[in-house]
Amino acid sequence: MESGRREGMAWMCPSREHVLGQVVRDGSGVRQLLLYRHALTLTPTLSPADRGTFSPKGGGDDVEVMAVVEGYVCDVRCDICGRMRTWVPGEEAIKKLLERITIKDGTE
Ligand SMILES: [Zn+2]
Repeated sequence: MESGRREGMAWMCPSREHVLGQVVRDGSGVRQLLLYRHALTLTPTLSPADRGTFSPKGGGDDVEVMAVVEGYVCDVRCDICGRMRTWVPGEEAIKKLLERITIKDGTE
């Protein structure tokens, strides 16, 4: 079922009040960050338990994804409060990147 792909963990700004993006896994289990163009304010009614499966406004279609990030991204700025956060990819993403580099630099 690929329909669950858009469901992901909220990637919060350091204030823990704004959502900068969403963390999803691609088909091979690699973590990706869907970076939103504009940060969202988390609804206060959302319990901490619900934050794990955050889905913006029910469907997410009104959220503009600026970039899909697999690698390391420094200083993503929250456009609500201006705080910065750095995205560090999971180990599996780093392995995948290294594999790509190895293939590219390998014998032809
Ligand atoms: Zn913020």
